[in-house]
Amino acid sequence: MHRKSLTELSRSLARRDFSSVELTHACLKRLERLNPTLNCFITPTPDLALAQARDADHQHARGTAGPLAGIPIAHKDIFCTDGVKTSCGSKILDNFIAPYDATVVERLRAAGMVMVGKTNMDEFAMGSSSETGFQGPVRSPWDINRVAGGSSGGSACAVAARIVPAATGTDTGGSIRLPAALCGITGLKPTYGLVSRHGMVAFASSLDQGGPIARSAEDVALLLGAMGGFDPKDSTSVERAPQDYVRSLATGVQGLRIGLPRQYFDAQLDAAIADCIHKVLETLERGGAKLKDIELPSTPLSIPAYYVVAPAEASSNLSRFDGVRFGYRCDNPEDLTDLYCRSRGEGFGAEVKRRIMIGTYVLSAGYYDAYYLKAQKIRRLIRDEFRAAFEQVDLIAGPTSPTTAFRLKERMDDPVSMYLSDIYTVSVNLAGLPAISIPSGEIGGLPVGMQLIGNHFDEARILAAAHAWQQQSDWHTRIPAGYGE
Ligand code: GLN
Repeated sequence: MHRKSLTELSRSLARRDFSSVELTHACLKRLERLNPTLNCFITPTPDLALAQARDADHQHARGTAGPLAGIPIAHKDIFCTDGVKTSCGSKILDNFIAPYDATVVERLRAAGMVMVGKTNMDEFAMGSSSETGFQGPVRSPWDINRVAGGSSGGSACAVAARIVPAATGTDTGGSIRLPAALCGITGLKPTYGLVSRHGMVAFASSLDQGGPIARSAEDVALLLGAMGGFDPKDSTSVERAPQDYVRSLATGVQGLRIGLPRQYFDAQLDAAIADCIHKVLETLERGGAKLKDIELPSTPLSIPAYYVVAPAEASSNLSRFDGVRFGYRCDNPEDLTDLYCRSRGEGFGAEVKRRIMIGTYVLSAGYYDAYYLKAQKIRRLIRDEFRAAFEQVDLIAGPTSPTTAFRLKERMDDPVSMYLSDIYTVSVNLAGLPAISIPSGEIGGLPVGMQLIGNHFDEARILAAAHAWQQQSDWHTRIPAGYGE
């Protein structure tokens, strides 16, 4: 069963080839067997999963089941889950039981999906490797000495290792796309405002966006339809007519104009990665797409701008963790100041503290104009450059990651090298655009991802192009050695 994609499982469940309870049992067994090595789950929820699976089976028996009913899913531990620990990968929330479901969780549950557990991640989603979490690093199923990418690495790993057919992730600067690329699966970061942030632990609110992680564009399309849409509980949620992303998959790429930014395909791009991407582009060209060189001149400024804006927002968002209302509280505080200082000092890890310090610094009087305001201006420039580009092209293509999966600990002592993992992804968040990462090849047995960026709310077009490629290729169906059985 675990070899089947979400779409295939959906058909099997509808045909009653097997029940959701049987499928969920199989998932839970794999989880139990593989998690000690991969560390992709923080909190498995077997009892809840089986209860939800029984529910789904009733829906199937009554004929009221939708296409997602009975399909197992894992949620990144950043999403609040009613009655289930929601730690966000941090010691400071390690005792936090959420009192409600995030909108994304609620909607997927309403569609009948079965939650099998909460996945490991970088602490507060700050990272590119899923190594900074309180529960230790996630390991890649492609090579257990390498990272799964981050920060949604637990989710990507669980999908790649065929523990679950689908998972949720969040992407503030690349955290869905990067782990999807490094794990050889498909991950979509939706347009800012399409998927509700309600109940998602906030990292950088103007950049955070939840999205689906699965094996193929087809699976992702199905999930996105169920996750997205207006939510009155999120003030930045956008009111738009719902779209059927599955139906539009067949649109193909005939006449599609694909832009290739010179700044993504410059001399710094690894030749083997460039090779993989060019093969995809050739295939899309044969399908009728037209390639065009374009310019996104401010690309080199995206990392510096992001590492001002994101920490600034994080420093403000994380002020709520004070040891008073919820989460970790230090032992025997002497007074209120001691309570704050030690609860935060003991509760947060090193990377989170670094972000809080950077964020507080760039927002402080005297430095605000020099850093924060400047970064905001660059953010506008980046957005304007994308806007100009989308007057000439429909989609923009490029690599997702500058490298394949790196070794565990390799970048942990060098934050800047870790930050540079997101060189191709952060500008998308700064501009609020949607983008997907799709499997596009392998180098030395490790997956390579390619990114397709679309204009705001153009998810359907991105998914159709990704689907067109996946109809002609089999990278998205490859299973890491030893995980097929
Ligand atoms: N790696 C980036 C960071 O550390 C992005 C993380 C994310 O998208 N959540 O901030």
